[in-house]
Amino acid sequence: MSGIGRIFGGRRERGGREGREARDAKRQAKQELDSSAEKSAEHESVQRPAAMALWTDSHCHLQHIDTDDEVRAVLARAEEVGTRRVVVVGTDAPSSRRAVDIASMPAQDGPGSTEVWATVGLHPHDSSMGTAAVRNFLEEVGAQGFSASRVVGVGECGLDFHYDHSPWPAQRRAFAEQVRMAHELGLALVVHTREAWEDTFAILESEGVPQRTIFHCFTGGPGEAERCLTLGAYLSFSGIVTFATAEELCAAAALTPLDRMLIETDSPFLTPVPYRGKPNEPCYVPVVGEAMARLKGEDPGELARATSANASVVFDLH
Ligand SMILES: [Zn+2]
Repeated sequence: MSGIGRIFGGRRERGGREGREARDAKRQAKQELDSSAEKSAEHESVQRPAAMALWTDSHCHLQHIDTDDEVRAVLARAEEVGTRRVVVVGTDAPSSRRAVDIASMPAQDGPGSTEVWATVGLHPHDSSMGTAAVRNFLEEVGAQGFSASRVVGVGECGLDFHYDHSPWPAQRRAFAEQVRMAHELGLALVVHTREAWEDTFAILESEGVPQRTIFHCFTGGPGEAERCLTLGAYLSFSGIVTFATAEELCAAAALTPLDRMLIETDSPFLTPVPYRGKPNEPCYVPVVGEAMARLKGEDPGELARATSANASVVFDLH
């Protein structure tokens, strides 16, 4: 049995009792989130806006931050504006390892502080490195248990024919291999695709679309959004929705149902308007979410609730 197969076997063997515990933990987490929302609403009637929503940043990169203290400062700023959950996304083996380290840092401020999860993957830009190191790291964290390591997804992976940093055949191969890993390990798949829609759909169709698939930093138009939704995938929207030039994207956002939508910063990139020029951080996820709420004609609190609930489902957060 391959290493990955062993991990998969281990995961499946967990079965009944752990399955129940996981469900209980999930229920408890939801109750805690609900009661912390109530508590913060009481608290905020004095110090903060009355209806501060609780947001989830479904995709960011905090690995460029030099020290743990600075990471804690970024998370504290996120917490202050209601970004209570963050997924730190890996782009190669070292950045995936750092993502797991950040996710495993003890919470600094006790209950109510921002929670962090990690993904492990190889970015299309780096596909020519091959997926072996990422696969080995997945075996390593899988041996400890994905849940104990706070690993919730494979990726970001996919195809980027805009920058072309790796040859197309290497990109296709690395993407297909990571789609297979998501299937084998039962993890979510985080897809990055740019100017490569047809090839992306072709690989997903030939490998099979993992049940929990996210198109991160969705930049397509209504046609691509429809196709992603038909595949059963979730669409994650970034600060690009705040850019005046993003008409097609805004049309795609408008047709995406609330129960299939996520919000992300993709920080440190893509700082939303009106904060252009500053490095992006998870504390700006409400800015993205509020822009999306305006586009959808939804209350921002409802959009925060729905997108956080979607993140719980698609990443199986508990
Ligand atoms: Zn990213």
